[in-house]
Amino acid sequence: MNTGIVSVEIVPRFINAERIKVLREGQDAERGDLIVYVMYASHRVSHNYALEYAIHEANLHRRPVIVVFPLIEKKPFPNLRRFSFMLENLIKMRRALAERGVRMFVCKNYGFLSLLGEASLVVVDRPYLSHQRRFIDTIVENAESKVVMVEGDVVVPIEAASQRPEHFARTIRPKILGKLKRFLEELPAIPPKVPSLSIDLPSWDADTVEEYVKGLEIDHTVRPVGYFVGGEDEASRRLDTFVNERLDLYARNRSDPGAEVCSELSPYLRWGMTSPVQILRVVLMKRSLEDVNVQSFINELVVWRELARNAAVYNPYFGTYDGLPGWARGTLEAHSSDRREHTYTIQELERGETHDEYWNAAQRELLTTGKIHNYMRMYWCKKIIEWTEHPQMAFECAVYLNDKYGLDGVDPNSYLGISWCFGAFDKPFFESKVYGKVRRMTQEALRRRPGIKRYLHKYSN
Ligand SMILES: Cc1cc2nc3c(=O)[nH]c(=O)nc-3n(C[C@H](O)[C@H](O)[C@H](O)COP(=O)(O)OP(=O)(O)OC[C@H]3O[C@@H](n4cnc5c(N)ncnc54)[C@H](O)[C@@H]3O)c2cc1C
Repeated sequence: MNTGIVSVEIVPRFINAERIKVLREGQDAERGDLIVYVMYASHRVSHNYALEYAIHEANLHRRPVIVVFPLIEKKPFPNLRRFSFMLENLIKMRRALAERGVRMFVCKNYGFLSLLGEASLVVVDRPYLSHQRRFIDTIVENAESKVVMVEGDVVVPIEAASQRPEHFARTIRPKILGKLKRFLEELPAIPPKVPSLSIDLPSWDADTVEEYVKGLEIDHTVRPVGYFVGGEDEASRRLDTFVNERLDLYARNRSDPGAEVCSELSPYLRWGMTSPVQILRVVLMKRSLEDVNVQSFINELVVWRELARNAAVYNPYFGTYDGLPGWARGTLEAHSSDRREHTYTIQELERGETHDEYWNAAQRELLTTGKIHNYMRMYWCKKIIEWTEHPQMAFECAVYLNDKYGLDGVDPNSYLGISWCFGAFDKPFFESKVYGKVRRMTQEALRRRPGIKRYLHKYSN
């Protein structure tokens, strides 16, 4: 399998060696005046492995480091909601980097490529989805120096956890948990020896989100939501609330749609505004690894989240209908001509106009907050299978709605969650109408869930 990795780097002691891979060897270590970090996956200034690695290298070679931030207009679902969240954070990050003496270079799309020629070292962080990996490939193709990738958005780096596709949480779990402690290293914030603030660069430095979005070709019809505000500070605030007020109820109540016990960190994790290692370190400052709530949280934050990244790396069709296991596609297709009691167009679903008040509430949560509660998300996606004419159409519809409106959408978790609803990472169940052997979820079961009335009340029109 071609991972694009050339070799493993000799690394500073504060970063575990398995986080660092050389994507391109450099010919001449003395060429170039800058160390360039292209920030793509880890949108944060604190606890950012790639940034600290870049500063460490810059200090070693007495060079300044600059952080490049490309605003990619062609991302899947480049809309006002998703961009506003990202830009709120970007504006804060530019200030935070300046306080550390580091210059940020903001540009549209690939406007930074010419800068790569001035670099003695290019550092990138690690995204997992295929279109994101192509972006990193473009950097490697255009670089003239060494390119190093630093993997800081998982606890256990993907290849260190497993070198093959894992089809179930139960198979990857022991591999991840066995290495967990090794990868909870503390990451110091290193002061740069050569400041880069005075370097003159044609950076696009707007002070407000409005100024930025005026100049971007994005879909302005999907409005921002006030429920989540972009920023590392916001992520820390939510983490504090989670650890101090919610964690002790997590194991028992995380699947109760009416209980507010989850961290609601998914949008921040999605954009790299917080680090899973740091989240876990903060949790472990308060509670032990043996605590049942901590174990349940690790199961989501680390096991399931990193299973999604394993699938993104090892399954070339991940995120598409063709990426589902053969048995799941087979059974769903064998039942594709089963009579559907209700069918809806994508527009009716988008507006939350179905006969099912629970489903409409979940869709309303997505439209108004930018995410859906974990348990409701499963119900929401399963019902789309029931209400569309073909499972492939249902899969594409779920991806479309999830990614267009979810602030945490376009993430490996998005496609793991949706694929799970279509049978992946799960086992075959008793045969039923429409779903075949894929596990189904019924409204009757949902009605029995504690807190469902509260949820309904919260998200009814
Ligand atoms: C159909 C469907 C679509 C989904 N789409 C997304 C999505 O677009 N983005 C997204 O981040 N998650 C998605 N999930 C997974 C899960 O629902 C969310 O991660 C979770 O609800 C986020 O809420 P939280 O941050 O309060 O989670 P918490 O319970 O506080 O968990 C902490 C973190 O662990 C990770 N996590 C939690 N549950 C899961 C899970 N089941 N699988 C993988 N990682 C998990 C998330 O990063 C989450 O922020 C989807 C699930 C389903 C069934």
